[in-house]
Amino acid sequence: MHHFEYRNGRLYAEDVDLAALAREVGTPFYVYSEATLRRHARVFAKAFAGADPLVAFSVKANSNLAVLKILASEGAGADVVSAGELYRALKAGIAPEKIVFSGVGKTAEEMQAALEAGIYQFNVESAPELEALNAVALSLGKRAPVALRVNPDVAAGGHDKISTGRKEDKFGVSWGQTRALYAHARALNGIEVAGVDLHIGSQIADLKPFEAAFTKAGQLIADLRADGCAITRLDLGGGLGIPYGDPKEGGAPPPSPEDYAGLIKKLTAPLGVRLIFEPGRMIAGNAGVLVTQVLYVKEGEGRTFLIVDAGMNDLIRPALYDAYHEIKPVALNETAPEKTYDVVGPVCESSDFLAKQRKLPEFSPGDFAAVMSAGAYGAVQASQYNTRPLVPESLVNGDRYALIRRRPSIEEMLALETAPDWLA
Ligand code: PLP
Repeated sequence: MHHFEYRNGRLYAEDVDLAALAREVGTPFYVYSEATLRRHARVFAKAFAGADPLVAFSVKANSNLAVLKILASEGAGADVVSAGELYRALKAGIAPEKIVFSGVGKTAEEMQAALEAGIYQFNVESAPELEALNAVALSLGKRAPVALRVNPDVAAGGHDKISTGRKEDKFGVSWGQTRALYAHARALNGIEVAGVDLHIGSQIADLKPFEAAFTKAGQLIADLRADGCAITRLDLGGGLGIPYGDPKEGGAPPPSPEDYAGLIKKLTAPLGVRLIFEPGRMIAGNAGVLVTQVLYVKEGEGRTFLIVDAGMNDLIRPALYDAYHEIKPVALNETAPEKTYDVVGPVCESSDFLAKQRKLPEFSPGDFAAVMSAGAYGAVQASQYNTRPLVPESLVNGDRYALIRRRPSIEEMLALETAPDWLA
């Protein structure tokens, strides 16, 4: 459930009229609902109430400092994948003992920063990464708490590009190598083996792949314990899908957090481990929308193009993952006829689209549209391609709003570039 609703035909974010906000901020821009972020964090925490898990918000989904501060105040930790994300999480007030560090290519500098901060856990993805972490930890006179990310070879996720747990994916230690690598890890003085980690993909719309992967993880823990390895933590990653309103979803909502939690409690209760979760999309996805303005309506041959001022540099998900985002008019006109549009941006790429062959109420130049469910993997993947300013982000709380990342000027965008002397 989210807090973007029509009131008298006008789309609101909580108690803020989006058309008024659009005129104030200028389009395109993202707007997040604080009440929705808090609600999703609480729904997830409540589903596991009594189990005392670490819920480490996946910072890659939405890393704005204000968003992280809200989630920190809800008790969330952070799952980070770079020194930059680690810095953000700490700056937002997330305690190091609630931070896990994931990712397949951590550098020695990143490992050092995380060890010095005293994070809760490194999720290590390969033998050479383990050696590197051991060396950095020894050089600092520390022991790094480690879970090995294992690859259970289970297919899951809403798109090929967000499936991470198959043996051909780059993620995790191959199943057949796992026990030997744990045995090796135990022998390293800079490593403290703490747990098992897996993350099988994103936008997962049914419980079966979770069940298959988590059952395998349980068996692995039993095997590792038989090998003499003390496993006290199990990190189950993120991945729980959200409704995007895509007709291909067939109207069936993804599993509820309660059902997801029910399955996990059943599978993990006998293990006696502390659970860790890394949800991203489930917390932030439906808590944000991208607001854009129609520039032109172009009649092509057999196609009508709705040319809007938000492009693939602002929201890349349709171009990258063929993702479906519902598009809504900010001002409803009940009498407007329906038309079929390709909704496209101004970027000079054919892949620059937000929707293809989409039936929408008729739009005119100057109208505002809201691209829904854009709070996760939206602003974080934005770029300045075509020297378009990085899209701003705003936050509403009741009838208040604030700009939480402003639009840079063109001068600011160029400020880091210099021409060498020989071009003077
Ligand atoms: N954890 C890891 C290691 C990830 O790679 C991701 C995203 O792909 C997540 C957590 C968050 O996934 P989601 O946003 O689907 O919950």
